[in-house]
Amino acid sequence: MDQSSAQKEIARLRREIKKHDRLYYELARPEISDGEYDLLMQRLIELEKQHPGLVLPDSPTQRVAGKPLPGFTQVKHPTPMLSLDNTYNEDDLREFDQRVCKGLTGQSYRYVVELKIDGVAVALFYRQGLLEYGATRGDGVRGDDITANLKTIRSIPLSIDASESELEVRGEVYLSKKEFARLNDIKQQEGQAVFANPRNAAAGSLKQLDPRAVAQRKLSIFVYGMGRPPGNLDQHYQAMKFMKDLGFKVNPNIGLCQDISQVIDYCNRWEQKRDDLDYEIDGMVVKLDTYAQQRQLGATSHSPRWAIAYKFPARQAATILRSVEFSLGRTGVVTPVANLEPVQLSGSIVSRATLHNDDELKRKDLHYGDTVIIEKAGEIIPQVVRVVIEKRNKKAGPVVMPQNCPVCHAPLKRLEGEVAWRCGNVSCPAQVKGRIEHFASRGAMDIDGLGPAVVELLVTQELITDFGDLYDLRKADLLPLERMGEKSADNLITAIEKSKGNPFWRVVYSLGIIHVGTQAARELAKRFEDMDSLASAGCQEISKIYGLGPAVGQSVENFFRNPHNLKVLEKLKRAGVRMKSDSSTGHGGAFSGMTVVLTGGLESYTREQAAELIISQGGNIGSAVSKKTSLVLAGSEPGSKYDKARALGVTVIDEREFIRMVKGL
Ligand SMILES: [Zn+2]
Repeated sequence: MDQSSAQKEIARLRREIKKHDRLYYELARPEISDGEYDLLMQRLIELEKQHPGLVLPDSPTQRVAGKPLPGFTQVKHPTPMLSLDNTYNEDDLREFDQRVCKGLTGQSYRYVVELKIDGVAVALFYRQGLLEYGATRGDGVRGDDITANLKTIRSIPLSIDASESELEVRGEVYLSKKEFARLNDIKQQEGQAVFANPRNAAAGSLKQLDPRAVAQRKLSIFVYGMGRPPGNLDQHYQAMKFMKDLGFKVNPNIGLCQDISQVIDYCNRWEQKRDDLDYEIDGMVVKLDTYAQQRQLGATSHSPRWAIAYKFPARQAATILRSVEFSLGRTGVVTPVANLEPVQLSGSIVSRATLHNDDELKRKDLHYGDTVIIEKAGEIIPQVVRVVIEKRNKKAGPVVMPQNCPVCHAPLKRLEGEVAWRCGNVSCPAQVKGRIEHFASRGAMDIDGLGPAVVELLVTQELITDFGDLYDLRKADLLPLERMGEKSADNLITAIEKSKGNPFWRVVYSLGIIHVGTQAARELAKRFEDMDSLASAGCQEISKIYGLGPAVGQSVENFFRNPHNLKVLEKLKRAGVRMKSDSSTGHGGAFSGMTVVLTGGLESYTREQAAELIISQGGNIGSAVSKKTSLVLAGSEPGSKYDKARALGVTVIDEREFIRMVKGL
């Protein structure tokens, strides 16, 4: 591709990626799958590599371009980042209002009320429209320069179309509840201490020195103000709209309240609805709307007089610890789980709570029969926060970690640098079952009829010791099993057989390598043509792949170093499970140089698979139909894209035609 067409293509891809970032992160309305998004990104990276002169500082590829830092430097905030005073009840709010009223003698005023996101406050500084740096609040005067980490957050624009030469925007970086649960799940599997709440997780993530590790945590941001708002803005409410129009992610739940009663109503409403949100809030923020009035009231040395935080009461309940169960995951980590006297906690009955790990057990000094305080903190399963020591029965014994695996009785070990105790026995039935269940699960090898109950039978009857053995099973082995009829045995054998043809990435995902979810598995399968080259790649090489990182690299390397795993892989290979990449990466394929838009559902492929095929054969995926679209692939019930293609005279093909092209017929 020559320089000028490369330039055009790069500009198009950047626009496209920026648009999808916005759709995904600001509007929560993605138009393309993650896979399709990654393909756009890969293409841009490729082109920029070929034309390094065309790389701009605000290109989406620059989000994860930083190298690990030795430490953070400090920056001084242009205007101090004050913290807010807290209030805890309606009376406090009314008192705040009286102070405001007194300060603004005779004037009318109104409030803007926002959700108080449970995250980390940051400042983003833009010069001539480009993100120059981003920093933590720190002590309010100086904060840590965490620019490289903030750049990895896709909802933070790297450039904005502002007429102001300098603009400092402030916001709260946070983790969604789902992402928080995912991170803690990984921590648990890795034997690391889990994060207590999403705020700690967000703060811990921003303190990482390696931006690639930060990119792994899917952080997000809501902006809520500016250090010095542009002079043409008179009100905060107006400013929120201004920032939204610039492309910042502004929380949509902003209340405009005419008096303090409305403020209180609004706060109460959100206290009831907080569980509907996919992120944690710990209260509300009340601000005087008009800037002139804000200035009139001013600030004390530590907080403004025109704003206040209203904190929700913690969601805690007291109950009795009945017993402790030690459960075992597929990586062998033993997790203590509390069985509780059932208790009502913000709308649901709670009878179990996580105790995380041994360190936590010791720190809480838990005894059987203790009265404990449990709390919900952005988790599906609540946690025990503390013991009410005064209520302890003197004869009660302490809860201690067992020394042996509760399932196979092998001694538990604690590895260096881990908080978890693990069962080190690779043949431990609990781990074996866990790994096989994962292997067979939907999204992995998707083996119908191989749920936990059947896995349990197969393992306890010693028919299999790992998932590699599945492929040696015969119908005659299955028939003696409980509740296994002729038909279900046939079906299971067929399902196992069928799984051999699963795409390579699903095989990679099925192995259950820590940190390798479906997304990472796809990435690995794209980069390595077969299992052998993946196995010999090593941490360094894998860490460099866009979207992955050192944690994934290390985990993959560890997996392939383990002789037990190699033995299982050998079985898969022998059985004929697909061990190499299925897509040819050739250029000049059937879709060479074409921009293809997909619409409607396909029978033989998911849209992602179809997109992968098109890209692998030299094409690009477009998201909207225009005159430049080469081809529209229309499946069943195509949408408006189909009509538009017809109107513009763009060629439309159906699935049969598509298959014909793919196969080169
Ligand atoms: Zn065990």
